[in-house]
Amino acid sequence: MTLALTNQNYHSNEANREYMSVSQFKDFTTCEASALAKLNGEYTDIDSDALLLGSYVHAHFEGVLDQFRIDNPQLFLSKGDRAGQLYEKYSIADRMIEALERDSFCSFVLQGEKETIITAELGGIAWKAKIDVLNREQERFADIKTVRDIYGRHWSNEHGAWVSFVEHYRYVLQMAVYAELVRLSSGLDYWYEPAIVAVSKEKVPAIEVIGGFDTRIALELDLMKERLPRVIAVKSGAEEPRRCERCSYCRSTRQVSGMVHYMDLLIGS
Ligand SMILES: [Zn+2]
Repeated sequence: MTLALTNQNYHSNEANREYMSVSQFKDFTTCEASALAKLNGEYTDIDSDALLLGSYVHAHFEGVLDQFRIDNPQLFLSKGDRAGQLYEKYSIADRMIEALERDSFCSFVLQGEKETIITAELGGIAWKAKIDVLNREQERFADIKTVRDIYGRHWSNEHGAWVSFVEHYRYVLQMAVYAELVRLSSGLDYWYEPAIVAVSKEKVPAIEVIGGFDTRIALELDLMKERLPRVIAVKSGAEEPRRCERCSYCRSTRQVSGMVHYMDLLIGS
């Protein structure tokens, strides 16, 4: 391991090639071709408004809003009485922050070290993670999630049932891997308690502190380790990546090779 991680290089392709992360693992286990193209710099997810809103909320709680303003001037009004404030379409971000700050339990859970970068070896390779809130005295950590609808349902083919955004976006896996990386990098023989602090992007934001992950950590880590060898093989170039033919990368590079039966359209979707 040679690359020392900083806030500047944490999300770089170089850092992503050297380290595994939860989002990279999710990418590889969703579509290998897309994950590899991203890693090689051939393809990028669009920096969407949704992502920017999330980054703004994170920057606020990290206390680095001034730098965020410099890096993302397009979000802020440049003239008039409201200069420096968020454009109307982004102003929901300020309401999301207010919603979390006016609540004493959310504020309590958000107390701790902010945006801590940790690395550890897990499953034979180096991993990196950035922990939104790490509270070592109270042996817990928290991740801030900005979501469209905290109570929305998502269909899961894997479970054959409706699931919440937490399962849909595989945040149980994220909490488990973070717990393990915190444990390994701190030399502990037990896990800190994970929590998700969720705030919705609705006009009047909903807030929740979500837990219950502790009993799933061991299982999630086992499931992750089962799939990790394939991810490592594809990432290293030892195995050819498979295309999912559903994601935006595959759609943008698709060559249709023949007809599909109309009864097969729902397979794998
Ligand atoms: Zn794909």
